[in-house]
Amino acid sequence: MGTVWMCYDPHIMEKPFFLWGLRMVESDINEFPIGNAFIKFSKSIEDRCEVETESRIWDLGSKAPDCYEGVGTVLSYLDRMGSCHWGCNGNDHSIQYLCGAVSSNGRAALRLIQMGFYDESLLIVRHIGEVANLLALFRMDGSNFEEWNLFQNRFTPAEVRARLKSLTNLEPPINSERYSALSHRFVHPNAELRPQLFNLVGVPTTGGKLQEAGLLVTLNELALPLAYACIAGALILNISDDLTRDIEAAAEHLLEQVGEVGLAGYEKILGATQTDDQTRDTLRQRGRDLVEFQKSLQDFWHTRTTPKLPLGRWLVENMPRGTNLEPPPRDDFGRPNPFLDETFQ
Ligand SMILES: [Zn+2]
Repeated sequence: MGTVWMCYDPHIMEKPFFLWGLRMVESDINEFPIGNAFIKFSKSIEDRCEVETESRIWDLGSKAPDCYEGVGTVLSYLDRMGSCHWGCNGNDHSIQYLCGAVSSNGRAALRLIQMGFYDESLLIVRHIGEVANLLALFRMDGSNFEEWNLFQNRFTPAEVRARLKSLTNLEPPINSERYSALSHRFVHPNAELRPQLFNLVGVPTTGGKLQEAGLLVTLNELALPLAYACIAGALILNISDDLTRDIEAAAEHLLEQVGEVGLAGYEKILGATQTDDQTRDTLRQRGRDLVEFQKSLQDFWHTRTTPKLPLGRWLVENMPRGTNLEPPPRDDFGRPNPFLDETFQ
């Protein structure tokens, strides 16, 4: 226990929160919607989160706004690289398709970030990281591309990383630590899963709620593989010297804007924050307030729904009275004694 990625920090929270759902984001709701009404309701909350995010991003330090802009520029280049914007070389387009897919993946990941779906965005980020490593491998050694393309060999992500490392003796763009962190926390279901947990008081949420830490972490994690995929793709396609230089410069600039608040840095920053006594007191109080608020919502909910009886009470009220069972008579000597052969010491 003790890391924010688990349920809660026992130094701050007295008990774990239950999940912060859409009802708690939208306090004005009277009847909880179902069907198409729920779809529209959740969309309205996601739309609101998107507007808040697009406004808030410009105030989040010096790097985040530049990183946001840089992601847009790199996505623009990847889109054009994927669609032969500067002319078609007539080849089989495998690299163009990979670049186009990364652009689509990146746009989808960005939309999810804007709508407060940080975990879901990181699922896509892991996939972009796989493509970034693959493109880097193809650029380093074209024989790998032939093997992959002509012979339809599928390389596992670990195999791609190992091949890259054997070629360069450097860590691949998306190394095994980053890949396994993404896999463990956001791809494979596990008992430590706490959805959208990007806040100091340890409240898991569903999507649609702006969390600044979630915004920074996912934006930085997205920027990294996008920039690497863009550089490797541009070098392989080699559209023209001038264009390749522009694309490289844009991707390198994006890499410089990637802040330290990534999957690993986030935990360190939270750990440092919690060593400050005053901050810890404030967080503890905020935690208590949230527990009270959630409890009041829960009570409110129960007043509007039929309470479920505890099992013990249900049994007392519903078990048949009396009994129809016929116990055997005491003089039933016809039955063999199963313990006759037993000796007791
Ligand atoms: Zn083409």
